[in-house]
Amino acid sequence: MADTVLIVAAHPDDEVLGVGGTAARHVLSGDAVHSLIVAEGVTSRSLHRDAVQAKPSLAQLGSEAARAAAELRLPPPRQLGLPDNRLDSLDLLDIIKPIEAIIAEVRPQVIYTHHAGDLNIDHECVHRAVLTAARRLPGSTVRAIYTFETVSSTEWGSLELSSGFRPARFVDIGTTLTAKLRALEQYEMEMRPFPHARSVTAVEALARVRGAQSGMEAAEAFGVMYELWK
Ligand SMILES: [Zn+2]
Repeated sequence: MADTVLIVAAHPDDEVLGVGGTAARHVLSGDAVHSLIVAEGVTSRSLHRDAVQAKPSLAQLGSEAARAAAELRLPPPRQLGLPDNRLDSLDLLDIIKPIEAIIAEVRPQVIYTHHAGDLNIDHECVHRAVLTAARRLPGSTVRAIYTFETVSSTEWGSLELSSGFRPARFVDIGTTLTAKLRALEQYEMEMRPFPHARSVTAVEALARVRGAQSGMEAAEAFGVMYELWK
């Protein structure tokens, strides 16, 4: 039976960097894939958050996100529009509640979200919020939560605050890596030239390394928060 999958990412591009190849595989398997982006992106680049001034950039980022999703044959991501790189200024409950509402609406079996030890504070907040929103209550539809790595954040996280990203699940993305890289190319505002960690070349290199670690041409790697067999 087809699954419903929910990707919960902090910023536009994280959903592709972390799980783009696997999301495309889910689509090929007939699963329904939804993505939710919690923070608005962009506004942290100026000294003060000015959503009005940032409006054209946010609109461009929104259309880049929709084009990236289309490359993976996903619907455009839903956006919560919370303050970029300032999620730690909110009560965690104000992040948990809207995620809970979307879980109740979409009823996913599988959730992908951020690794907790990333350098980016929004990634940590989203991780915590998702684990709370998808806690293992009677009647919950969620059977598994997996965490993804995000280049230019996971590998820069403090090794004194976290034990690092230790994946236990590897997904073959040999057939979907090209679509993932094309999706990333849509994010002109976010991607950087190599040797920046957030470059198409570096993302492909990581996919090849994860593949080589698991006997595949290319892979995405995930941490396992829980898996239930119901
Ligand atoms: Zn991010």
